[in-house]
Amino acid sequence: MGLFGGRKTVFVDADILVIGGGMAGCGATYESRYWGRDLKIVCVEKANIERSGAVAQGLYAINCYMGMQWGENQPEDHVRYARNDLMGLVREDLGYDIARHVDSSVHKFEEWGLPIMKDPKTGRYQREGKWQIMIHGESYKPIVAEAARKAATEVYNRIMVTHLLMDTGKANRVAGAVGFNVRTGDFHVFRAKAVIVCAGGASHIFQPRAVGEGMGRTWYAPWSSASAYALPIQVGAKMTQMENRIVLTRFKDGYGPVGAYFLHLKTYTQNGYGEEYESKWYDNTKALVGDYIDRHPVPTCLRNHAIIQEVAAGRGPIRMVTKEAFQDPHNETVGWENFLGMTIGQAVVWASQNIDPKQTNPELTTSEPYVMGSHATCSGAWASGPEDYAPAEYQWGYNRMMTVDGLFGAGDTIGGTAHKFSSGSFTEGRIAAKAAVKYVKDIGQAQPQVSEREYRDLEKEIYQPLENYRVGRNEITAGTVSPSYLLPIHGLQRLEKIMDEYAGGISTNYMTNGVLLNRGLELLAMLREDMSHMGAEDLHQLQRTWELNHRLLASESVTHHTLFREETRWPGYYYRGDHMKLDDENWHCFTLSRYDRNTGMWAMEKAPVYHIID
Ligand SMILES: Cc1cc2nc3c(=O)[nH]c(=O)nc-3n(C[C@H](O)[C@H](O)[C@H](O)COP(=O)(O)OP(=O)(O)OC[C@H]3O[C@@H](n4cnc5c(N)ncnc54)[C@H](O)[C@@H]3O)c2cc1C
Repeated sequence: MGLFGGRKTVFVDADILVIGGGMAGCGATYESRYWGRDLKIVCVEKANIERSGAVAQGLYAINCYMGMQWGENQPEDHVRYARNDLMGLVREDLGYDIARHVDSSVHKFEEWGLPIMKDPKTGRYQREGKWQIMIHGESYKPIVAEAARKAATEVYNRIMVTHLLMDTGKANRVAGAVGFNVRTGDFHVFRAKAVIVCAGGASHIFQPRAVGEGMGRTWYAPWSSASAYALPIQVGAKMTQMENRIVLTRFKDGYGPVGAYFLHLKTYTQNGYGEEYESKWYDNTKALVGDYIDRHPVPTCLRNHAIIQEVAAGRGPIRMVTKEAFQDPHNETVGWENFLGMTIGQAVVWASQNIDPKQTNPELTTSEPYVMGSHATCSGAWASGPEDYAPAEYQWGYNRMMTVDGLFGAGDTIGGTAHKFSSGSFTEGRIAAKAAVKYVKDIGQAQPQVSEREYRDLEKEIYQPLENYRVGRNEITAGTVSPSYLLPIHGLQRLEKIMDEYAGGISTNYMTNGVLLNRGLELLAMLREDMSHMGAEDLHQLQRTWELNHRLLASESVTHHTLFREETRWPGYYYRGDHMKLDDENWHCFTLSRYDRNTGMWAMEKAPVYHIID
C-alpha cells in the first residue's frame, strides 16, 4: 500500500489472543493448545517470534530452576529467596505457583533441543548458582518459538498492538485488541474471548548511560517498550509495585552480565584503589534498612547501594577482579563464552577499549533504571492468584486474570513476582493460558462484542502521526525541527530526561523526593498534551510513536507509585530524599494504582502483603 491510502482492515477472530510472543507469550500459546484442543489460538507479535523479546540474542543461563528431581531446592525456598531480595514484598502465592511448575518447563526445553550443560561428576544440570543452570543458549528463543508456532492456530508477526478493545455488552470485560502491521501498514482488529498480555518490560523510560555513539544500547531489550503495562493501564487494570524499578550492576559500556562471573568464576569487586569497600557501608545501610542488610544473600538493591555510595564518595571506579580467575584457561573460556551466547556487544566493547580481563580488571557500573516484572524486581499488573493457594483477598476469578474480566498476563506483565526470569516467565504464560482456556469454556457462547465506532476512532488516532508529518513537512525545507510536529526521538529524549531528573535516574544518583515527583508529573502531563502533535515519517516511525505513547503511560504510573510510597524501601534502586528510611510499620504493603482514561486521574491504594510461607 502507499503509506497514506489503500490501507486494508484485517479482522481476526480468536478464542484466545496472546499479545507478545516472547518467553511468556510462547508459553501461553503452547499451553493454550494443550488445554484448548479445539480453540482458535492466535499469537500477535510486533517483531518475529523466532528472535523476539529479551531472549532474542540467547542466554547463557536459565536463572530459575528448582532441581526438585534431585532434591536441590523446593518451591518454598524460592519464595523465601525472592521475598528476601525484594525486601519483604512479594506475592508469595504467585511466586510459589511458578516455582512449583518451573522445572517441568525446563525439562520441555531440553526435550525440544536446548543443550543444558551437565556436571560431569553428578550428571545433574551444571549449576551456576543456587537457582541458575548453565545452557548453550544461543538458540533458546527459536527453540521455544517453534513450540509456540506449532501450537498456534495463527501467529501474526510484525503487528504492533496499540490498544485493547472492551466489550460493549458487559462492563469491565476485554473483547480484543487493535494494532497495525509495521511493514504493510494494514490495520488489524482482533476480537477475542480472552486476551493474555505478554508484551515484556520497559527500557528507555529513564535516560540511559549510553549516549552519543552508544545511543540505543541498553541493558534490557531496547524494543521492550512498556506495552505490557500501557495496554492494561489504558483499560483500567490495577497495577502494583510500579515504583520498584530495577538498577543493574553490569560491566561498563556494554551492560555485560555479571552473574556467571560472581557465581561460577568466583570473581569479586574492589574500589578504584584496589580495596574491599562493601563492609564500609554496613553501618550506613543498617541505619536505612535495619536487619535486611544482615540477610543472606544480601538483597540486590543493597549491593548496588554500596557501589553507588562508594563511587559518590570519590573512590570509584568499581572493578571486577578478573585477573586471578582468568589465569585458569577453563575460566577464561567460560568468561568469554558467557558474552558470546547472550551479550556479544560486551566482548566487542572490551576489544575496542583494549581490555583483556586476564590483564585488566574491567569496570562495573550501575545502570539506568528499568521497569519489569521478571528479574530482581516486580512491577506489573495486579493479578488474581491460584485457587488452591492464594489468600481470599488475592482471588477474584481465574489465575493470572487482572482486575479486568478476560484479561490475563504473564512474565514481565504481572507484578509482585520477582525472580521468574526466562523459565519462570514461560511457566507463568502456561499458567495464565490454562486459566484463560477455562475462562473461555466457562463463558461458552457469550462472545464479547466490539464497537465498530470504537475501533474506527482508534484507527484514526493510530495513523494520525503519518498525517501530521505529511502536512507539517511542507512547512520546512530541510532538517528535522518543525513548528508543527515532534518526532518520536524528540519525545523519547524528553521523556527520558524528565524521568531521569525528577523520578530518580542516573543524573541525580537515583535520588528523588515529593517535590521533584510532583514537578515530574506536571512535565509528563505537558508531554502528554504534545503527543497529538507527533509526526511519523513512515511506518517505522509510527511504531516508535506508539512505543513512546506506551512508555509515557508507564512512566506516569511509575511516578505516581514512587510518590505514593513514602519511604525508601529499596536503596540502590532509588531513594526518596524526604523519606530516606525503610518504614515497615506503614509501608510493609503493596501499592496499587488504577488509571481512569475518562478523567485521566490515578487512584492509589495499599494492599496487604500476606506471608504464606514461614
Ligand atoms: C540482558 C538480559 C539478560 C537476561 N539474562 C537472563 C538469564 O541469564 N537467564 C534467564 O533465565 N533470564 C534472563 N533474562 C530475563 C528474561 O529474558 C526475561 O525474564 C523474559 O524474557 C521475560 O519474558 P516476557 O515474555 O515477559 O518478555 P519478552 O521475552 O521480552 O517478550 C515480550 C514480547 O512482546 C513483544 N511485544 C512488545 N510490545 C508489543 C506490542 N505492543 N505488540 C506486539 N508485541 C509486542 C516483544 O517483541 C517480545 O517478543 C535476561 C534479560 C535480559 C534483557
